[in-house]
Amino acid sequence: MSHIEQPRLVIASHNQGKIKEFQEILGKRWLITPQGELGVPEVAETGLTFVENALLKARHACTNTGCASLADDSGLVVPSLGGDPGLHSARYSGKGDQCNNALLLERMAKYSGDQRAAFYITVVVFFLHADDPTPIIAEGRWFGQIATGPRGDGGFGYDPLFIPEGFQRHAAELTAEEKNRVSHRAKAVHSLIKQLQI
Ligand code: IMP
Repeated sequence: MSHIEQPRLVIASHNQGKIKEFQEILGKRWLITPQGELGVPEVAETGLTFVENALLKARHACTNTGCASLADDSGLVVPSLGGDPGLHSARYSGKGDQCNNALLLERMAKYSGDQRAAFYITVVVFFLHADDPTPIIAEGRWFGQIATGPRGDGGFGYDPLFIPEGFQRHAAELTAEEKNRVSHRAKAVHSLIKQLQI
């Protein structure tokens, strides 16, 4: 299929890894374009939930471009901490990934066993146009627990502390292929694809 026949799908993200992933999965059907290429400014993520933030970002990309759009929002949720780091996952300590992990370990120090349960979540939202009353909303969760110390140097974010269910290794010790088979992001994207019926 030539690009001329392809409708444009704006990706509301600056993350090259995510853009590449969406290109690989959806590139046959859609002309994938990062919102930065079309001069779309960042929108304030003022939602109180992952789904609200993904909806805000996707609608904003549609409004500014007149095209279909896709946005995602992800994070780590620890029920013992009332859902933290949650929406604040990227800026939990305000000082980057290593300090985020140190702060999480400190807050988890008093918990053991099942109280160390956690999950990663990704919500992906697809809008056909800015007034689309039925956006497609897909979610993926990856369950596990928070370790008492870091291991591994793969992945990113909280992966050195996250032990996924069914694994003896930390997420940062998995290969990219292993992670991409089971992760929250993979599950959300697969669910989206099913709903898009492509
Ligand atoms: P984003 O919405 O995908 O940018 O994710 C927000 C934050 O959640 C990241 O900066 C990480 O702190 C955390 N996070 C999301 N997905 C992952 C993951 O797969 N591994 C580790 N941390 C993650």
